[in-house]
Amino acid sequence: MSQDQSTRPLPPGSTIGIIGSGQLGRMAALAAARLGYRVHVYSPEAGSPAAQVSDCATVAAYDDEAAIERFAAQVDVVTFEFENIPAESVRLMAEHIPVRPCWSVLEVAQDRISEKRFFNSIGIETAPWREVTSIDDLRKAVEEIGRPAVLKTARLGYDGKGQVKIGPDTDLAEAWAALGNGLDSAGPGVLEGFIDFLGEISVIVARGADGEWAAFDPAWNIHHDHILDITTIPAPIAPSLSDQAMDIAHRAAEALGVVGLLAVEMFVTPNGLLANEMAPRPHNSGHWTMDACVTDQFEQFVRAVCCLPLGSPERHSDAEMKNLIGSDADQWLDILRDPAAKLHLYGKAEARPGRKMGHVNRIRPRSDHS
Ligand code: AMP
Repeated sequence: MSQDQSTRPLPPGSTIGIIGSGQLGRMAALAAARLGYRVHVYSPEAGSPAAQVSDCATVAAYDDEAAIERFAAQVDVVTFEFENIPAESVRLMAEHIPVRPCWSVLEVAQDRISEKRFFNSIGIETAPWREVTSIDDLRKAVEEIGRPAVLKTARLGYDGKGQVKIGPDTDLAEAWAALGNGLDSAGPGVLEGFIDFLGEISVIVARGADGEWAAFDPAWNIHHDHILDITTIPAPIAPSLSDQAMDIAHRAAEALGVVGLLAVEMFVTPNGLLANEMAPRPHNSGHWTMDACVTDQFEQFVRAVCCLPLGSPERHSDAEMKNLIGSDADQWLDILRDPAAKLHLYGKAEARPGRKMGHVNRIRPRSDHS
């Protein structure tokens, strides 16, 4: 896939095409509108959170080539809030207009095996891992890595879907059969050593087409039922570890040639940082930036994708972001009464269990000045 070398700023009034139309696309579209851009979203869902706030929405399957071609003809640049789209669709779009980030970035991020291979190839440590394509592979991998371990689908897993923990007594045939539960298909997997981490952090870095970059402070993430629950900033880690985390995210973005955002999730262990996974788009663990930074992750995303100068990622406040999952969003009136709270709702009609309905940022004056 050809790498887009152009660094000419896309002027306000141009149309940004966003693939995917969930809450990330919605908040990106709002940031784009603030800077005077038009947004056209593309996804299979009608009335989606992003479509509600965009100028135009194509409702079509991600592999509908005719719809993809029409979409590409109507926008000035394409980006993604969702990366699991077919290679052929991205190739078709890239024939017409700049696609940022480019296909090679999505290709690495779509697959846990290529992601881990990539991290290790540039000297970024991960949990020990083995590729697993059969029950025999799994038996061998568990012998080599030991228990406990985690078996994950290589592709399409999210929020704990497509993951099986392998404890001391887990039957491996059952674990192999269970892989892909909650997903349409399982495909190959990856076995990872279970990391007894001190905590989980993430860093979101923006990178422009000219190589300019800016990273947000590392965020401290607490998950509940495998879904991000609370993000706290500043993360309770030493400044040197914080610098290392930002350096890891920057090195990864640089090596991939990302134009846009890259979020890298890491485990904090007594022996240092281990990269877990990455996403080349805005990330749930960056929602705190909306109320605690000079430039938030969504504006930074728009700036990078449109080849504008990056904004300052400086944090002016401490923050805690709480995801509102399912019926949590029923608390909207109480949240609005809290003077420290900033409520963000995604316009989703039905509050199903496990569904991200919104988030609330609670901000305080900054306690550290590192
Ligand atoms: P992931 O889908 O890889 O982000 O995993 C979801 C969550 O499962 C992570 O945020 C961790 O809390 C946990 N997890 C994933 N992989 C491991 C591992 N190798 N060791 C321990 N916990 C893990």
